[in-house]
Amino acid sequence: MTCVGILGGGQLARMLALAGAPLGLRFLVLDSAADACAAQFVPQLTADYRDEAALAEFAARVDVATFDFENVPAESAQWLAERVSVHPAPRALAVAQDRLAEKRLFNGLGIGTPAFAAIDDRRGLDAALAEIGAPAILKTRRLGYDGKGQFRLRSAADADAAWAALGAQGEAHGLILEAFVPFEREISIVAVRSRAGEFRTWAPTENWHRDGVLSASLAPATVPPPLADAAVESARRVAEALDYVGVFALELFVVGGRLLANEMAPRVHNSGHWTIEGAVTSQFQNHLRAVLGLPLGDTTALGVSCMLNWIGELPAAQPVLAAPRAYWHDYGKSPRAGRKVGHATLVADSAAALADALSRLGTALGREGQVAPVRAALAAD
Ligand code: AMP
Repeated sequence: MTCVGILGGGQLARMLALAGAPLGLRFLVLDSAADACAAQFVPQLTADYRDEAALAEFAARVDVATFDFENVPAESAQWLAERVSVHPAPRALAVAQDRLAEKRLFNGLGIGTPAFAAIDDRRGLDAALAEIGAPAILKTRRLGYDGKGQFRLRSAADADAAWAALGAQGEAHGLILEAFVPFEREISIVAVRSRAGEFRTWAPTENWHRDGVLSASLAPATVPPPLADAAVESARRVAEALDYVGVFALELFVVGGRLLANEMAPRVHNSGHWTIEGAVTSQFQNHLRAVLGLPLGDTTALGVSCMLNWIGELPAAQPVLAAPRAYWHDYGKSPRAGRKVGHATLVADSAAALADALSRLGTALGREGQVAPVRAALAAD
């Protein structure tokens, strides 16, 4: 029986395991937290990602290794790749771990990004501000996600505060200053590439964030087809340049009718959760198919879908469970501010039907604010 090893045992690993069950797969997760939520029904090794003895046991027990977490140390990924098949490859992981490397890759492939500059010290911040101007966002090159490791500068007068917040991390790992983009929309392309080089994408997804964390996704995104095609073409270039195997997400801003790439996530992605019920084959199952060298499944959307993220705590399940074509996901995590603890997906045959279903659910859950931007996008389309 094939065993898939997953570095990281969070909700992504949990949903990978759920999607892998019909394929007859076994799983093993490696996570430093003893209470990783995938471990509620997948065996877990609890150890630091740098623990060589644990990595050796992991490698001995799995047929292929993949990630639910991109910040696994590059050396650990490389160590494993010398012993077992690892997808995506450590090189792709290394590029996606570094905001500077990924933006340089995008630009090298002709994919536009917000203006950016690398920063190593306090004087570098002043130089970068002089070059890029304000408003701008200072970000750590590594280990940032969900808006963590970021500081927004309204003007150059905020430079001291920005350095106080992130300077120590900057001296350790480097920083990047990006022009603040007054975007009209945020979209993502969730894509999959097989070992044989076959490339597929799901419908472009429109995303809304709150405090840097994904709050809601809508698929297909309400963008004109030429823009959607250009976004898919960018994702294809990235996948081919990295000889990527598995699922990844490319996040893009839409501004003035143009696309600017923000970042890529080298794994299944929160903005692809709607594919579990809203597409013929989910991102989770296609990731497993890709890393195992199996044929990819059809990524066609089954209608119009909206995913609502539950951050911090779950709302009442009852209104979701009672609604038609609504799907409830509880990750089995304890509540904590800012933590992703679950999501729900609504699927409908038309934008109008989805807008109605969202309106009813938003009211029933007391979450009108969370569904409002999605309803507005559907109404404007
Ligand atoms: P990130 O961790 O880079 O994905 O950033 C989290 C969120 O912050 C993004 O989804 C955007 O909503 C916002 N953001 C990040 N970078 C920029 C930028 N250069 N301009 C405007 N908003 C940004």
